[in-house]
Amino acid sequence: MNAYEMALVQLRTAAKYLNLEDSIVEILSRPKRELQVSFPVKMDNGKVKVFTGYRVQHNDARGPFKGGIRYHPLVDINEVRALAMWMTWKTAVLNIPYGGAKGGVACNPKEMSKSELERLTRKYTMMISPIIGPYTDIPAPDVYTDPQTMAWIMDTYSQLVGYRVPAIVTGKPISLGGSAGRSTATSRGVIVAAKEAAKAFKREMEGLGIVIQGFGNVGANAAILAREFGAKVIAVSDSKGGIYNEKGLDVFEVLKHKERTGSVVNFPSAKNVTNEELLELPCDILVPAALEGQIHKGNAKNIQAKIVVEGANGPTTPEADKILFDREIMVVPDILANGGGVLVSYFEWVQNLTNLYWTENEVNDKLDNKMRDAFLQVYNIAREKCVDMRTAALILSVGRVVEAMNIAGYFP
Ligand code: NAD
Repeated sequence: MNAYEMALVQLRTAAKYLNLEDSIVEILSRPKRELQVSFPVKMDNGKVKVFTGYRVQHNDARGPFKGGIRYHPLVDINEVRALAMWMTWKTAVLNIPYGGAKGGVACNPKEMSKSELERLTRKYTMMISPIIGPYTDIPAPDVYTDPQTMAWIMDTYSQLVGYRVPAIVTGKPISLGGSAGRSTATSRGVIVAAKEAAKAFKREMEGLGIVIQGFGNVGANAAILAREFGAKVIAVSDSKGGIYNEKGLDVFEVLKHKERTGSVVNFPSAKNVTNEELLELPCDILVPAALEGQIHKGNAKNIQAKIVVEGANGPTTPEADKILFDREIMVVPDILANGGGVLVSYFEWVQNLTNLYWTENEVNDKLDNKMRDAFLQVYNIAREKCVDMRTAALILSVGRVVEAMNIAGYFP
């Protein structure tokens, strides 16, 4: 099942609970707009390479399209479609006035120099510029894109229109109008969601053992924050493999090790594990924070965590969802758990449009409150309807989107 097929199964499940008409499900099954672009980039060796990129706009019933841009060799239209749909649900679960979109370029950033990445980003921005804008579609970072990428997008777009447009992207460097707290926002949201989930099991975060797959923006910052919230990070991984120490890892030392060697693997005083083994380690909370489809029907029965908090988008397949639900393992779904990123993106956009800037404490307080509210709303629906947390989050979000669509009507 590819990511888009997964997203469609999830939509149909929610549609059943909401008694949606087939025509509404059909509208929501297809993105409103899809743009595929091919563009040449001059590489450092003087040769020209042609890249394929996408921008998919799923739904804007509740506000402008919003969603990140991914650079990865496996980016394809179905992945971007799924990610765009999940953005629609995510902004609706959090009740922020956005729709959902996603972009991506099939490339291997690990094999590209900084200047090649800059040229690729500027060219891709020019190619998608007709459909993005501060009031229409606002990109942000995702896998292997970062504040620097956003700075290039903002600069290119600004040069195209002839004036500075900070609100065209979020996740920018602070010096270009980025928000305090944005770089750690997704992870903070993940850990706040983990804390609320632990509370539902009548547990505090102190001493809980956490395993994190993926040690990038989301995974590494989640590890730092988990420690701050009193939990013990016992295993982490990146694309090359993982490390495990049941007594707990010194996260800052792991970060230094990764900086030195390029990976978390071979960290002294920890055992190397594969990414597959990592998911099945004994722990209280498992945070998949890498890519899609990591927890599937083949390994769901071996997951030992009591709570799974989805830092990544789409890490659990629908078959695995069923197995985990039957085993009474709570899965805090991506559209809720990793919503802290788009939440603070929204705060960044509001600050850009009003030219009034907030302190990190203000941002974090607003983030914590919104995440707690959204968690409680989803948790209450899950209990009331005896469904898993993903279905509950979809009932809430799809319901909100359909309400907006119905009130606006179907012009002409
Ligand atoms: P990133 O590029 O900063 O980090 C990705 C990490 O995953 C890296 O450590 C990489 O080594 C690791 N990885 C890649 N392939 C792997 C594999 N096969 N097995 C294990 N690890 C692997 O990306 P990120 O921004 O941290 O995004 C991670 C996930 O979180 C993605 O699913 C993304 O869509 C989602 N997400 C990100 C944000 C955000 O604000 N950055 C917001 C919401 C959701």
